[in-house]
Amino acid sequence: MPQDLDRLIAKSVRDIPDFPQPGVVFKDITTLLADPEVFGAVVAAIADRHRGATVDHVVGLEARGFILAAPIALALGAAFVPVRKSGKLPSDTLSATYDLEYGTATVEMHTDAIAPGGRVLIVDDVLATGGTGRAAVDLVRRAGGTVVGFSVLMELAFLQGREKLADVELHALSVV
Ligand code: AMP
Repeated sequence: MPQDLDRLIAKSVRDIPDFPQPGVVFKDITTLLADPEVFGAVVAAIADRHRGATVDHVVGLEARGFILAAPIALALGAAFVPVRKSGKLPSDTLSATYDLEYGTATVEMHTDAIAPGGRVLIVDDVLATGGTGRAAVDLVRRAGGTVVGFSVLMELAFLQGREKLADVELHALSVV
């Protein structure tokens, strides 16, 4: 029941004001992860939504995206693929750089992580400005994959990240 789940998520995620810097309200999902019923319901809801769509790979975005994407990949019988911050992956990588408020950030994926024509679901915990998500979509496409969906636990609508992902089937379990 998505409406109930939305309420459960809102109750389970903890707001931490002024972290990691003044003015940011950080959505702390550790409190949700500590509740196996809610964590399980979140994983099931995202997996169920994509069950009919043939997903070959589930891409998780470092770091909290890994926690959600790995069990979703197992539930779908798909390969888990990490997208990591620069310099962490050991083999050959593709990389994408995007703008932050101050400076830039780079994310990477192994060049051989996506099978040719592979169908890919991307998963992260929070969609904020959409910069990380946009970079991940571009990496998957450059690797030859098709992005069949982009799922997040929580979308911060006021930051309008959705606008950067207009060419993707984007779904949030909870919108704040
Ligand atoms: P963005 O690229 O701005 O969409 O930021 C998305 C990434 O940063 C995600 O991987 C989130 O985990 C993290 N993030 C950004 N803003 C927040 C926030 N307010 N609370 C928790 N995580 C956040």
